[in-house]
Amino acid sequence: MVTPEVHHPHPCCTNPTACIRITIQARALVSRIRLYFRPHTLSEAVDVLASSNGQILAGGTDFFPALGDRPALGPVVDISRLKELRGIEHELRYIRVGGLTTWTELIKTPLPRCFDGLKAAAREIGSVQIQNRATVAGNLCNASPAADSVPPLLTLDAEVELTSRAGTRRLPLAEFITGNRKTRRQPWEIVSNVFVPRTAEDAASVFLKLGARRYLVISIAMVAALVQKDSAGRVNAARVSIGACSAVARRLPALEQRLLGAPAAAGLGAVATADDLVVLSPITDVRATAAYRQDAALTLVQRALDACAGSA
Ligand SMILES: Cc1cc2nc3c(=O)[nH]c(=O)nc-3n(C[C@H](O)[C@H](O)[C@H](O)COP(=O)(O)OP(=O)(O)OC[C@H]3O[C@@H](n4cnc5c(N)ncnc54)[C@H](O)[C@@H]3O)c2cc1C
Repeated sequence: MVTPEVHHPHPCCTNPTACIRITIQARALVSRIRLYFRPHTLSEAVDVLASSNGQILAGGTDFFPALGDRPALGPVVDISRLKELRGIEHELRYIRVGGLTTWTELIKTPLPRCFDGLKAAAREIGSVQIQNRATVAGNLCNASPAADSVPPLLTLDAEVELTSRAGTRRLPLAEFITGNRKTRRQPWEIVSNVFVPRTAEDAASVFLKLGARRYLVISIAMVAALVQKDSAGRVNAARVSIGACSAVARRLPALEQRLLGAPAAAGLGAVATADDLVVLSPITDVRATAAYRQDAALTLVQRALDACAGSA
């Protein structure tokens, strides 16, 4: 609950009567401005979001740390009660992941093999306590370059559904995140669902994360790979993406193309070369140098492909 500050009469006031009058007026004003909304349905939520121009709060695991010591500026629309945005459904052509699905719920849901990489990423998001609160849509909307779910969702060709008063629209995830903390979401839109096309359900998928320690750590680099083989044991679908090495996680289409037709067996990782990674633009920061990130990313890609081939 956001409690706005109200001036109280103070013994040092030179004019206590005026001070009390101002306090009463301020309280009356504050009571007319609602600062916290907790809608029960998606249609209520998009209405209140549009009319209040509020900020969305889901699990709060990015929202509150970003505030630091400051109170929230402006109205907050807490969407955590929207049951319709929770859970995972198998539809005819897609698997629908509700935007409010937590990482724990995703880990516990039986899903096709191609989701193994996403589940591995979910297990790496913070700690179990964080995974119990943090949501799928929150990770995407926060749009950190180090958001662990983005590379595996890119390899799943995921699409993001946005809902507003005007209806819904869908965007490929690759187009949704446009930069560091930037997305194509309009302030009046809620990410309602993430759709994964059911095109490679039997594919092997892997997620590898490199951090400064094993647990509760922000990625230095991370890689997701998905490999599907045909009846002759050759790669007939390959998708590789890298996170934390550019402002937005990205796929490696040239490498993916070269992998097609290669034997899905030990040594598949050797197909990837340093040239495949020239599209990255890693930064130097407290966690690692740009050169280390670039080097480590290649090793992760090769290991991820070998791991996929080993289980394809
Ligand atoms: C200790 C700790 C460790 C962490 N470790 C990791 C980690 O290892 N890897 C990682 O990737 N992340 C990590 N995180 C970040 C965070 O837990 C995830 O990004 C999480 O998935 C965010 O989800 P949330 O529901 O908590 O989002 P919130 O904090 O509620 O919201 C995040 C942002 O998204 C917006 N938003 C949320 N839901 C929607 C929606 N449905 N539609 C539109 N906008 C929305 C909010 O307005 C806000 O701007 C960590 C966080 C903490 C505190």
